[in-house]
Order: sequence, then structure tokens, then C-alpha cells
Amino acid sequence: MPNPKRKHSKSRTAKRRGGKNVKKVSLSSCSNCKSLKPSHVVCPVCGYYKDKLIVPPKEKTKKKS
Ligand SMILES: [Zn+2]
Repeated sequence: MPNPKRKHSKSRTAKRRGGKNVKKVSLSSCSNCKSLKPSHVVCPVCGYYKDKLIVPPKEKTKKKS
């Protein structure tokens, strides 16, 4: 029977499987601020989703001093 001559090393197997579980994040542009964001997710920049304000954006300089 044609069998593989040698066992594949663990590193070789790991290298082959390395890219398998890498998810591609599909980016879409926000309808409010036109910035790139992951689709089906509230915009991290302006907090809008489907033209509605879901999460009010955080103030940038909110440091307790
Ligand atoms: Zn936005």
C-alpha cells in the first residue's frame, strides 16, 4: 500500500493547521461616520448601529487628575 514514508513532525502539522482558525473580520463602513468597523457590530467610533445611537461615545480626554 502507498503509505507515507515518514511521520510528519508536530511542527509541520502545526504549520499546516496554523492558519485554519484565523477568522477574517469583514469590515464595513459605518453609516454614520463612514469609518471602517466590523459588520453587525455597533460602531466603536460613534456608537451608532443602523442609524441609531446605541452607545454614546466616550469622551476622549476623561482622565482623573
Ligand atoms: Zn460610526
